[in-house]
Amino acid sequence: MDAENPAPASPVLPRSFDETHKIRFECRRGIACWNACCSNIDISLTPYDVLRLARRQDLSTTEFLWKYTVPYEMEKDGIAGVKLKPVDGGTACRFMESAGCSVYADRPTACRYYPVALLSLRRQDENVDRQSYALVEESHCLGHREPREITVADYRAEQGLPEYDELARGWRQLILKKKSSGPAVGKPSQRSLELFFMACYDLDRFRSFVASEGFGRIHDLPDDEIRAILEDDVAAMQFAFRFLRQVLFGEMSIALHAENTEARRVRLAEQRARIEREAAERLAREEAGDLPED
Ligand code: SF4
Ligand code: SF4
Repeated sequence: MDAENPAPASPVLPRSFDETHKIRFECRRGIACWNACCSNIDISLTPYDVLRLARRQDLSTTEFLWKYTVPYEMEKDGIAGVKLKPVDGGTACRFMESAGCSVYADRPTACRYYPVALLSLRRQDENVDRQSYALVEESHCLGHREPREITVADYRAEQGLPEYDELARGWRQLILKKKSSGPAVGKPSQRSLELFFMACYDLDRFRSFVASEGFGRIHDLPDDEIRAILEDDVAAMQFAFRFLRQVLFGEMSIALHAENTEARRVRLAEQRARIEREAAERLAREEAGDLPED
């Protein structure tokens, strides 16, 4: 299941609605389809999902990613994503047990949302996303036959989603912004994919990067902010989103050391001048070669 990112051919009903809409659904222990949804997974993780699951297993994000996830490129926009890795040679979730989900209190956003699909929409002229929802009706899921009616707002609250969505907001906005900047910006470089991957999902590696001498030489961060990033997972994650907005979209919110900024500016200007000079020389050589002889 992938309630967050329904594919075009998925059983997501085409109708979207807001939080006040009532759905008829209940998942309960003892239902005949118990665990059917967790037996065939396709679950994308948010950065906060990765953090919660890694900390639950007492793992660094690097170890968790290696052991429990597979990387993928989200849609065709060159955005790095991670999915839960199913059991070896199968499709079931590694956290599924006969009694149910073994990581229930820290289960990912997509598992909490199911069978509701979150649709984040953004208009070209807007910098904020609007949320709407759709219903996923898969034939194996008998929860739709239960008599309980519940609004999407109450369902989200029941599933602990307000906190998860709040903490994933910066990440979703980055994705929407990257998608809406589309082909004009072109295919992102391998380096920008890797940076996005590290800052969003491998928070412990991102922390080491922030603590490195190279980062400190360029960025001018107050000591208390560095301390918060090093000690507090959520502060580090929010800073990672800020850092990516600055690096990918030029939204400057992290101060740079002036002398290094100037040195970078001079280096880039020299580099640009060299590229232009080489291009002009190449053109001149080509034109000379192309000229008909007298
Ligand atoms: S994390 Fe839990 S709820 Fe989600 S697919 Fe795995 S077992 Fe099911
Ligand atoms: S009711 Fe749906 S969500 Fe609940 S166990 Fe069955 S298939 Fe999974």
